[in-house]
Amino acid sequence: MRIGIDLGGTKIEAIALGGGGEVRARRRVPTPRDDYDGTVAAIAALARAIEAETQATGTVGVGTPGATSPASGLMKNCNSTWLNGRPLRVDLEAALARPVRLANDANCFALSEATDGAAAGARVVFGVIVGTGTGGGIVVDGRPLDGPNAIAGEWGHNPLPWPEAAEWPGAPCYCGRSGCIETFLSGPGLARDYREATGCETRADDVVAAASGGDVAAEAALARYEHRMAKALAAILNVLDPDVVVLGGGMSNVSRLYAQVPRLWGAWVFSDRVDTRLVPPVHGDASGVRGAAWLWPAGAPSTFTASV
Ligand SMILES: [Zn+2]
Repeated sequence: MRIGIDLGGTKIEAIALGGGGEVRARRRVPTPRDDYDGTVAAIAALARAIEAETQATGTVGVGTPGATSPASGLMKNCNSTWLNGRPLRVDLEAALARPVRLANDANCFALSEATDGAAAGARVVFGVIVGTGTGGGIVVDGRPLDGPNAIAGEWGHNPLPWPEAAEWPGAPCYCGRSGCIETFLSGPGLARDYREATGCETRADDVVAAASGGDVAAEAALARYEHRMAKALAAILNVLDPDVVVLGGGMSNVSRLYAQVPRLWGAWVFSDRVDTRLVPPVHGDASGVRGAAWLWPAGAPSTFTASV
């Protein structure tokens, strides 16, 4: 059995998958915000409760915001800021008396879809979360790509490539720079673009609904969004050449993206043709917990071998 836990800013979700990926149990608790010890205890209690319910033991994988610094073992880049600077993996291993694998939540999303979702069977997968923010994760041969800085796939804070005059220097980003891909492709980014064009304050899903209802300004904003996504993904294709790009997050529900963006991205991809597929997720919101569970692939050792 594989236990996957998705540590979010407002809730912690847990799932138990059987050997074939079938769901054996699900649980969810509110995140003890601003309480690190409480967060560790809540995750451990969820895993124990699932084991009690299923009367089985499981491997434990955890999807987190941010990342574990390979150099220090401490959490970094978390918008749940009470985790930053804390040795979360070590503390979870102590609480659960077993090895625990941690990965960024975008990596878990990509791993879930690469394992038994929209990109099942594909060799190189780029998973993108376009929601409140914009993140990404890379899976190669069924394993998340980990680099020395634990930032592989963090594409949202690159600048928008091939900017037009109106896209430069772009809006300020919370990371301290301006014109980041996230400021264009997140849901709030679409809403901001619409507001700048029309003066109307609205939400991204309202812009999408208005565009499908024939609203000219909303349609123009969504068309700009599609061009920007095509440019931003073309830069990924030129570096990584993935077999599949899977979208997640709120903007992944905009079905026209899957036809429009591949129609556009060829203008910036350095190739005579583009066979990469852009697809919607299969597991949707469940990809975070499922990918966390899959951090322990079949055949991986799960006993505590004191190699930490
Ligand atoms: Zn940024």
